[in-house]
Amino acid sequence: MLSSPILALALSALALLSSQAAEDSYRFVVVDATEWSAASLGALDLDVVGPTPDGLGIELIARDRELAILEESGLPYVVTIADLETYYASRLVPSSPPQGAAGASINPPFGQGGMGGYHTYDEVAAILDQLAAQFPLITSSKFSLGQSIEGREIWAIKVSDNPELDEIEPEVRFDSLHHAREPMSMEATLYFMIWMLENYGSDPLATYLVDEREIWFVPVVNPDGYVYNQTTNPNGGGMWRKNRRDNGFDFGVDLNRNYPFAWGFDDSGSSPWTGSQVYRGTGPASEPEIQAMVAFFASRNFRTALSSHSYSNLWLAPWGYDSVFPPDHDDLQEIGALATKSNGFPFGPAFLLLYPANGVTFDQDYGPNDTFAWTPEIGSSQQGFWPPVGDLISLAQSTLEGFQTTAVAAGPYLLHQGTLLLDLGDGDGEFEPGETVGVIVDVRNSGRGAGEPTVKLISNDPDLTVISGSESLGSLSPFSSAVNSAAPLLMTIDPAATPGSALDFSAGLNWEGPDDLSSETLTVGFPEPNEWQNLGGGTLGINGVPSLTASGSLVAGTPFEINLANAAPSALMVVWLSFDSMPLSVLGGTLHANPVDAQFVRVSDSGGSLSEGGSWFAGVPTGTELTLQFLIQDLSVIQEITMSNGVTATTP
Ligand SMILES: [Zn+2]
Repeated sequence: MLSSPILALALSALALLSSQAAEDSYRFVVVDATEWSAASLGALDLDVVGPTPDGLGIELIARDRELAILEESGLPYVVTIADLETYYASRLVPSSPPQGAAGASINPPFGQGGMGGYHTYDEVAAILDQLAAQFPLITSSKFSLGQSIEGREIWAIKVSDNPELDEIEPEVRFDSLHHAREPMSMEATLYFMIWMLENYGSDPLATYLVDEREIWFVPVVNPDGYVYNQTTNPNGGGMWRKNRRDNGFDFGVDLNRNYPFAWGFDDSGSSPWTGSQVYRGTGPASEPEIQAMVAFFASRNFRTALSSHSYSNLWLAPWGYDSVFPPDHDDLQEIGALATKSNGFPFGPAFLLLYPANGVTFDQDYGPNDTFAWTPEIGSSQQGFWPPVGDLISLAQSTLEGFQTTAVAAGPYLLHQGTLLLDLGDGDGEFEPGETVGVIVDVRNSGRGAGEPTVKLISNDPDLTVISGSESLGSLSPFSSAVNSAAPLLMTIDPAATPGSALDFSAGLNWEGPDDLSSETLTVGFPEPNEWQNLGGGTLGINGVPSLTASGSLVAGTPFEINLANAAPSALMVVWLSFDSMPLSVLGGTLHANPVDAQFVRVSDSGGSLSEGGSWFAGVPTGTELTLQFLIQDLSVIQEITMSNGVTATTP
């Protein structure tokens, strides 16, 4: 019995149109989103892609069947592309092949596949053989998970060190092409795999993933649908989505609605109607392709997985079947945020970002298998299901970090979150010459395995000496943080370091994966004005250091030098320059902002000259009055200070 007049209409429209299905074109249609949500459009059994980039409309694909449903619904819609297959194919005219960071080891290379630049099913199988031959120590031979309805193999391959052994390493899965019209999902999956293989031994992350993970790839889950597109549209652009199940009077089950978990939960997240693009099949895992996948999931212990699709530039997470958050929502979001850090894809549960869908891959992963799984929807609306071939590499690269992140997160995934510096000298918060600095490193484990971080401090700066550069934090549980506040790392600032200068160091951590060290700088501190003390007798000093004063006038263009008599090596001298009525903008070089008209220098040479002083006076008009104040660490070593412009100062 039919429960809905809309669905009744859908069925009758389908029956009317089934005889002319071959002429039935795929149209690109936009519906006003203010009228209806994507989810409720799904309830009309339409082929919804997602929101338009401006968020004002909803994109969907309409054959005659869906167009009839739209007409009956009364919703305003616009057909923007009348024949998507022709449109896509027109953009796939061979052009200069895209260049990329990976892919040199495969033939045909990326962008030169046999279907409008995209690799065909046979080419993917050949590439798996090529990779197994070229990287035999880290790639298994390809093997079949089972056969499709039409008897094609669903190929898989494993990447790991000792690929033929079942090692105790976190397991990961990447699959693609559940939907036959989404070849970019397969190309991105291949691209990540090949990046890893080609960079093994040279790139620390690729090496880590191969050595410490077991990673399976299933690049073509739906071979029949993909080959069908090749048959109807040999130069690319084919829009067939489902598998090739003969339903009696039409074809195809949506393989991403056929998984057993929450299968057929409702009729808005999948359809009971065979003609629908989201037809879920006659029962849970009714399709041999999904039976093979379900058995594969159950046979392994995948900790993370990506089941890639295209398009919409989204990173979808469980749940798909209902509008509820999964128990591990926060952890899923933590990994999702890292996966999309560079491409900026929105990430989160499918029901929030797109629309509910039941019987989907990541629900099967997460529900019965405890696999943290996501579906990247790769590519923009403009790029569509068959992006121009020139975009292929950049699209694959746009999700490479997400693939890498997902693979790491199957085990420990230790990251440097931040660095805190402690003033262990006078405690005023300024890191002054000679002081010791404590370094506290904040570490996060964003992965599913426990890790063992060692926080690290490294400096090659001659003015920064590391005293304590390494501290183990012990075992860090998944999705938890730790800091070495009980045992700060330590470094000292050279007593002769120049106040105001930036000293370089690196802080972060070592773990079993690639080091996560950040380059950081420490600015050597200036004495603060409120630390100047009146020592009596009209002179000021800082921290008990006596001072000299001098005054005079400058000669424009005359280099400024301070000549020290009998200065000891490493004597600390701070020079404070006060100008009367002198706009700061005419002063060259850098000026410490507080006090506004002061600049401090340090003299470490013995009796030498301080030639850098010259730049301070660039552009200063002749006759400008100035007052200099010198703070000298050990007054006894300096009897007299003279400057090339004639200003002199003597000890009191
Ligand atoms: Zn899809």
